[in-house]
Amino acid sequence: MAVDAAWAAAWVRASAEVIAENRVALSHLDRDIGDGDHGENMDRGFQAVLPKLDGLAEDAAPSDVLKLVATTLISTVGGAAGPLYGTAYLKAAGAVNGKAELEPADVVALLEAARDGIVLRGKAEPGDKTMIDAWTPAVEAASAANEDGKDAAAVLAAAADAAEAGAEATEPLVARKGRASYLGERSAGHRDPGAQSTALLLRAAAKSAA
Ligand code: ADP
Ligand code: MG
Ligand code: MG
Repeated sequence: MAVDAAWAAAWVRASAEVIAENRVALSHLDRDIGDGDHGENMDRGFQAVLPKLDGLAEDAAPSDVLKLVATTLISTVGGAAGPLYGTAYLKAAGAVNGKAELEPADVVALLEAARDGIVLRGKAEPGDKTMIDAWTPAVEAASAANEDGKDAAAVLAAAADAAEAGAEATEPLVARKGRASYLGERSAGHRDPGAQSTALLLRAAAKSAA
């Protein structure tokens, strides 16, 4: 399937579905090292985007869909994740602004801009046990897949695989950013909820392009 506006809308729907399915699991992860609301926060945000998809113009571009997600997440998710994901989607939209169909290099640019937006806002580095530990390997894998001549769907699949591995790899880490950092050493042994939601969102992106 082409990575176009229909893909972007399908990504939002698949995201809302997988976040709803994982609402309790994400909040359980957040209960271990945070305040137990990450699943509810993300579910509230993505459920709020769904009805707005119907209001998109016929000639909408993927960037219009991403902007819709950004503004909705910023106004409904709250906490740390709302502004971070909101910035990610906003920067992602900017990277592919107005393009009707995304080429493999555009997909890399979209993911890279999202990751850079989160870093700009949250100042996390790789290894701080945040969603950046899913985003950064995803960007690197996507870039490598593009350089290997893979198509846009395969670039997204590579990103999703790397994000899942990255989320898993947060388990032994000690948190240095966000609420989990208040726990110090006791944050080790738990997966970061934001890294896990990132892995779910990027898998949804890949599935929507397959
Ligand atoms: P809150 O901590 O305000 O309750 P959420 O529970 O919705 O917000 O989101 C927590 C997630 O946000 C963490 O698991 C982590 O991945 C992410 N996070 C927190 N602070 C930062 C940061 N400075 N940079 C990147 N990600 C962060
Ligand atoms: Mg929380
Ligand atoms: Mg909270």
